[in-house]
Amino acid sequence: MYRLDSRLHYSDPIFDTHTHGIDTDALDLLVEIEKTYGIEKSILICHSLGIKDYAEETYPSRFIYAKYFSGAFRFTHGVEPLLKEISTLKEEGYHLAKMQSAPMMRGRVKAGLDDLRMDEDEMARFFGAMKDEDIPFILHLSDPDTYYATKYTDKKQFSSKERDLQELEGVLKRHEDMKLQIAHFAAQPEIHRLDNLARWFDTYSNFNIDTSSARWISRELSKDPMIARTFIMKYADRLHFGTDCVAFTDDQSYYDGRHLALRLLFETEVRNEPLPFTDTDTVNTGGTFINGLNLPKSILDKIYWKNAMHFFSKFV
Ligand SMILES: [Zn+2]
Repeated sequence: MYRLDSRLHYSDPIFDTHTHGIDTDALDLLVEIEKTYGIEKSILICHSLGIKDYAEETYPSRFIYAKYFSGAFRFTHGVEPLLKEISTLKEEGYHLAKMQSAPMMRGRVKAGLDDLRMDEDEMARFFGAMKDEDIPFILHLSDPDTYYATKYTDKKQFSSKERDLQELEGVLKRHEDMKLQIAHFAAQPEIHRLDNLARWFDTYSNFNIDTSSARWISRELSKDPMIARTFIMKYADRLHFGTDCVAFTDDQSYYDGRHLALRLLFETEVRNEPLPFTDTDTVNTGGTFINGLNLPKSILDKIYWKNAMHFFSKFV
């Protein structure tokens, strides 16, 4: 039914390490489109036990399951319930934990700027519970530079991006003895931030990053494909392909566009190719364009498959 864009040439299996499950019909559609794009395994971040049970029954051995933790919940209920959720994670059939702790989570419940930072003592109890059970953790902390310039401008509600990145680095430093997948290029796909991300890679060996979201990563890495390509070639062992597709809608173009954007970015030499969907961050300033990185097959093999298979070898 779907035909792969003829500019895409990679034909080996791909592992998507960042997808979300919400609605069962939408999950069926996501899987159908994943198959078109060669995706044979995925991490499914489950927003309910129901979607995990459905996925397990319908698509045996396709998914690794991550239990979803809202980053806002700790501000309203404290850390204790999180420890309980970790203690039942394995028996419920999950393999990993994922927390969405973007700045807006703090804003949503009017939490103070210093409340329950991820790298502090109280939150260390949550990390300790995962360590005790040997549960890897996917963490989203911080957001695009564009959000800090437009959405996070109220300084009473939101920190600077620099401060949020310090918090994230604090997590890497404090929890060096656990497996971490830091979402969204560790919030640093912006070209001017790659040097800092390189320093993290050189300093901390406990974390890999994923390439979600398609919109953010395509937009920023395309701004200087030479620098982006050199960076990816150097740290190719630390990257996991991920789309951040959320199975919530019956709009096929939503899933299609995200897969197409990332694969055009990594595999091709396209220049000034319009992002195949709207980027709300640039819709009023000329749009977002993809400049392909033309990565060699040996590097694509790592990012698309081998690194994730190795990192999550216990579960595949
Ligand atoms: Zn996500």
